[in-house]
Amino acid sequence: MLMPDTWGQLFWRLLRIYLPFLLAGWLCHQIFLFLFLGSLLHIGWFYYQQRKLLNWLYVDKRLTPPEGAGTWQPVFYGIYQLVKRRLNRERELAQLMKSFRLGAESLPDAIVVFNQQDEIVWCNRLAMHLIGLKWPTDAGQTISNLVRQPEFVRYITKRQFNKGIEITSPSRSDLKLECRVMPYGDQFLMIVRDVTQQRKLDKMRKHFISNVSHELRTPLTVLRGYLEMLDDDLPSPVVWNKAHRMMSEQALRMDNLVNQLLTLARIEAAPEIDAMQQVDVPNMLDVLHHEAESLAGEGEFQFDFDIDPHLWMVGNADQMRSAFTNLVNNAVKYCSQPALIEVSWKLLPQGACFAVRDNGPGIPPQHIQRLTERFYRVDKDRSRNTGGAGLGLSIVKHALQHHRSELVIESVVGKGSRFSFIIPSELLVNVKNQPTAPAALAEYSS
Ligand code: ADP
Repeated sequence: MLMPDTWGQLFWRLLRIYLPFLLAGWLCHQIFLFLFLGSLLHIGWFYYQQRKLLNWLYVDKRLTPPEGAGTWQPVFYGIYQLVKRRLNRERELAQLMKSFRLGAESLPDAIVVFNQQDEIVWCNRLAMHLIGLKWPTDAGQTISNLVRQPEFVRYITKRQFNKGIEITSPSRSDLKLECRVMPYGDQFLMIVRDVTQQRKLDKMRKHFISNVSHELRTPLTVLRGYLEMLDDDLPSPVVWNKAHRMMSEQALRMDNLVNQLLTLARIEAAPEIDAMQQVDVPNMLDVLHHEAESLAGEGEFQFDFDIDPHLWMVGNADQMRSAFTNLVNNAVKYCSQPALIEVSWKLLPQGACFAVRDNGPGIPPQHIQRLTERFYRVDKDRSRNTGGAGLGLSIVKHALQHHRSELVIESVVGKGSRFSFIIPSELLVNVKNQPTAPAALAEYSS
């Protein structure tokens, strides 16, 4: 490493330069003249080195310094070391900034930094998407000029940042945003979170609780009414018979509701195809055929079951039973007599298709989209008479989702409805073509 000269080294260096002039001057009896000439040459050489330095600093701008000579060598080298150190520090700082920005970009929230004058200093990409900021165009813009909602402007001006605020996104009216501001240094960090889904879930939960309470209140009111009546005095056998029948009906209705709620909760909580069982669909539908006939009772019902006896599937047997049962039972419940109910389970190129067709009253088109929502019923009175709470198709939808399938509803008012779904080929086991069904299951599971 090059070091500047010590005083001693400097003395010897100057002596080496001036000694020849001193000797020449002494020999020519012109010591001062020769010393003067030597000094002039020395100064000239100094200026030459200084020129090289200035040229390097201002014109050349290369990192490596020019070759210095004598006492100038450590000067060039010292400056070179300073520049190198500063460049390294700048590089480290740039790296640090880059990783901080990358970190802020990968956050699941939008980030906006603004100063005491509310001018935007920086924002991440999500802020552009959620709040509609444009970067770098909006740098230096006042935040309340870009997010103009009065409650937000008030929140920013009042500087009471101990609580957050909820606003509608200025760029997308369907988004609900929660903004929180944190002061740091002489700036403010605003974190914006998309809470649309959370608010939707809150709303759904509230609706769900009020629907369940409402559904339970009706049978409970009936039960309480009869119980109070029985409290007063012993009723006649006729009244008692009616009371008993009504109370049993309402108890059954509550039981059905609770069972359906439990089924729905169980299916929703289950992961996609949680049980890799082989489902003997033909046998399941055979049992269902008998159940549907007994549900139809003495009514004028004609059932036509067209079932492929070799078509099994893998999946969750309970969930599939719920799906089949709800669709067939709905056809029985909502069909006016004389009724024709056709049920089929057949292999198609895309998979196995299950369909229930009835010649019932049909469903007006505006209701079809919403039928799988919980507690949704087309005709509340009619459904209530049949004991339905509007949960059946919701159960079907969730059960099918777990089996990579989707419910298709087609209906013409006055003509009838067709509810169908297709189980994809990869979930099917054809017991006729496959020598051992468990082998197919093992193949699928692997
Ligand atoms: P519910 O338990 O009330 O039957 P679902 O979710 O099974 O509830 O059905 C939702 C609504 O769809 C029912 O209230 C009924 O109005 C209508 N619906 C379902 N299946 C049929 C059908 N086969 N024919 C006519 N309407 C039907």
